[in-house]
Amino acid sequence: MKFDDYSIPAEIKRNLADLGFRKPTDIQFKSIPPILKGEDVLAIAQTGTGKTAAFAIPVVSMLYERRNARRADGIKCLVMVPTRELALQIAGVFEQIARHTGLKVFCVFGGVEQGPQIAQLEAGLDILIATPGRMFDLVSQGYIRFQRVEFLILDEADHMLDLGFIKDIQDVIRFLPRKRQTLFFSATINEKIKKLAYSLVHNAIRIQISPKDPVAKNIDHSVVFVGMDDKRFFLERMIKEHPDSKILVFVRTKVRAERVLKALERVSIVSQTIHGDKEQRDRLQVLNQFRTGVVKVLIATDVSARGIDIPNVDYVINYDLPEQPENYVHRVGRTGRGTQKGQAFSFCSPEEKPMLDEIEQFLTKPIKVVSIDPEVYEETVDTSDDAKFDLKALMQEAEELEKGRKKRKKK
Ligand code: ADP
Ligand code: MG
Repeated sequence: MKFDDYSIPAEIKRNLADLGFRKPTDIQFKSIPPILKGEDVLAIAQTGTGKTAAFAIPVVSMLYERRNARRADGIKCLVMVPTRELALQIAGVFEQIARHTGLKVFCVFGGVEQGPQIAQLEAGLDILIATPGRMFDLVSQGYIRFQRVEFLILDEADHMLDLGFIKDIQDVIRFLPRKRQTLFFSATINEKIKKLAYSLVHNAIRIQISPKDPVAKNIDHSVVFVGMDDKRFFLERMIKEHPDSKILVFVRTKVRAERVLKALERVSIVSQTIHGDKEQRDRLQVLNQFRTGVVKVLIATDVSARGIDIPNVDYVINYDLPEQPENYVHRVGRTGRGTQKGQAFSFCSPEEKPMLDEIEQFLTKPIKVVSIDPEVYEETVDTSDDAKFDLKALMQEAEELEKGRKKRKKK
C-alpha cells in the first residue's frame, strides 16, 4: 500500500511525497487507520521506525478536514515530549506534513525567554508540542488554554508516564476536554506503565506492535569486556580507526561526559557533549554540528538523546552501561534509523556486569560478545596517545597500567 492509496487530503499526500515518503512503515500502516477512525492508541514499535509520522499524518489529516467545517479556534492537538530538542524535532515533522494546509504548529520549552513564545501563543495555533515545565508555567499564567484540544499525544510515552512526569501528565489531563483522542507512542513499555496508560483513556486502546526483540534488526549490537580505567583507550582507538564515522557516545552522568571530552582532548580528538546542565543555545548548536557532521563525536547522557533522529550515526558506543535497562534500547536506537544499518558497542567493566544481566533480561536474550585478544588489549592501552601526554602523566599512567595488568593477570 502506498500513501497515495490512503483517504487523506491531497495536500498531505503531496507533502509526504516531497519528504520522500512513498510507503508507510509497519507502525504507520497499523496506526493510521485506527487513529483516523477515532480510536485511542498505544503503539509500541522499535526505534527509528517512523513513529512520529505515524501519529502526525492522521492527526494533521483530521484537523485539516475538520478545519473545513469551520471549527472554533484554539489548540487542537497537544503533543508532550521529554526534552526541548525532541519538541523542536517533532514540530519540524508536523510542519512538513502540514505544509500548505494553513495549520499552525508551534513548540514551547524551558531554558529560553517566555516573551516570543507568548506572542506566538496569542497569535493562535493548532498543534502545540511542549515539554511539561514551561507548558505549566504558561498555563498558570493563562497563555495556554486547552478547551479545544481534540488530541493528546505522549511521545516517549513510558518516559512521560514514569515518576518524573506522571504528576504533570495527570494535571494536564484535568484541563483537557473529556471527549478527545489519546495516543501513546514509544519503543519500550512495561506492565506498570501500560496499566497507567489504560487508566488515562476512556476508549479501549489498541496495541499496535509489540516487537519480540525491542532492538531493530538493522542494528548490530554487541558487548566488549573492558576494565573501567581502560575504556578511554578503547574509545580513542575506535574513533581513530574510524575517522570519517559519526559516533555517539553514551555516559552515565553529566560529569562523566565532561571527563570523557577532556580525555579525548588530550589525544587530539575533537568532541562535544550534550546533557541537562548545558545552556539551551549550546545544546541546539552542538546537536546541529553533530547532525551536519562538523563534529563527528558526540558524548551524551540518556535523556538528552531520547527520540532524537540524527541521520547517519554510524556507531553508538555505550561508554557506560545504562542504569535503566530500557535505555539500552533507546541508546542503540540512535543508529540504524529507517532503512539504514547501524552498529553499537557497549563497554562493560567487571563492576557493571550486574547491569548487563539486567539489560539482557529486559531484552530476553544475551547480547553478542566481542572478545578481544589479550595482545590487542595490551596494545590498545600501550599505544594510546594519552601516554605521550607528558612525562609525569606518562609515569603515573605506566604505574597504573602496570597495576591493572597485574590485576588482570591474577584473574
Ligand atoms: P521513531 O520515532 O520510531 O524512532 P522517527 O519518527 O524519528 O522514528 O523516524 C525515523 C526516520 O524515518 C526519520 O528520519 C523519518 O524521516 C523516516 N521516515 C519515517 N516514515 C517514513 C516513510 N514512510 N518512508 C521513509 N522514511 C520515513
Ligand atoms: Mg520517536
